[in-house]
Amino acid sequence: REGIFLDKNVYDWSSEEEEPDGRARPVQVLLVKDDHTFELDEAALSRILLAEEVRDREVVAISVAGAFRKGKSFLMDFMLRYMYNHASEDWLGNADEPLTGFSWRGGSERETTGIQIWSEVFLVDKPDGRKVAVLLMDTQGTFDSQSTLRDSATVFALSTMISSMQVYNISQNVQEDDLQHLQLFTEYGRLAMEETFLKPFQSMIFLVRDWSFPYEFPYGQEGGMKFLEKRLKISENQHEELQNVRKHIHSCFTNISCFLMPHPGLKVATNPHFDGRIKEIDGEFINNLKVLVPWLLSPRNIDVKEINGSKITCRGLVEYFKAYIKIYQG
Ligand code: GDP
Ligand code: MG
Repeated sequence: REGIFLDKNVYDWSSEEEEPDGRARPVQVLLVKDDHTFELDEAALSRILLAEEVRDREVVAISVAGAFRKGKSFLMDFMLRYMYNHASEDWLGNADEPLTGFSWRGGSERETTGIQIWSEVFLVDKPDGRKVAVLLMDTQGTFDSQSTLRDSATVFALSTMISSMQVYNISQNVQEDDLQHLQLFTEYGRLAMEETFLKPFQSMIFLVRDWSFPYEFPYGQEGGMKFLEKRLKISENQHEELQNVRKHIHSCFTNISCFLMPHPGLKVATNPHFDGRIKEIDGEFINNLKVLVPWLLSPRNIDVKEINGSKITCRGLVEYFKAYIKIYQG
């Protein structure tokens, strides 16, 4: 699969532009503007999800959400590499290959708030013989002031509503305010949805980056689960507010899990010339990446999007996306 590993500087095309060479790229489908209004690029969304090969396929929608500059797009690009290498054993590829896909970068300046999707929807054969369409979504939020918190809540809520798996990317630890944000965001989402007896959302994965207590809870999914159990535990002597946040989170998702990732090393975190090549990333990070990405994306592990208990196709997802955005536009 040549052509997708473009230079990371040439990605900032707007979705109105034609793809000059047909190569896959990130497309901004939801944009939060400076006046806090939302804009959905319906044409772009339709171009991607209503393409003939995918529109009637059941869709697996995977989203990564969280604050800026915490390595979401960087992770997404490894997910893309896995998809393009067809989940093969050596999907990580060449140690000298720069990492491309969704644009990721260092520095601290602000980016747009919104949702980007990868223009290529992947067709994957599940072990049971069904062919499903896999959509990757990268979202951006700010979380830094009251007004942008509301924007972020909407982006987070929307991406949770339309995904079958939401990866909540957080730095270093699961803090009480990460849980409070999650409560706010999912409450936002739940209010916009029809009430049912089913839990409104599917899988929530707490992805903790730069985890630095592996001697307490080891890296990976098992350590993550034990850690999360402890953080989400409800006990009588807790303040009522803490109990409520936890009850709320449990009531929203069918599956909740957690993965603890090590720090990728100083080159990744601080070197402005770092281009994503594996050779310059800490071995411990790579080892865990080799576990994390297949755990999230292997054909046996991916789940089709369901709304009110029914499986959704790409075509259906476009309709839901349009309906949900209308609610937030008021
Ligand atoms: P995003 O805004 O969340 O999408 O973050 P980016 O993927 O653009 O990454 C922001 C910066 O963090 C880049 O300089 C990356 O090299 C760096 N980075 C990526 N992953 C990690 C990580 O796990 N830990 C740390 N400390 N930095 C990371
Ligand atoms: Mg990003």
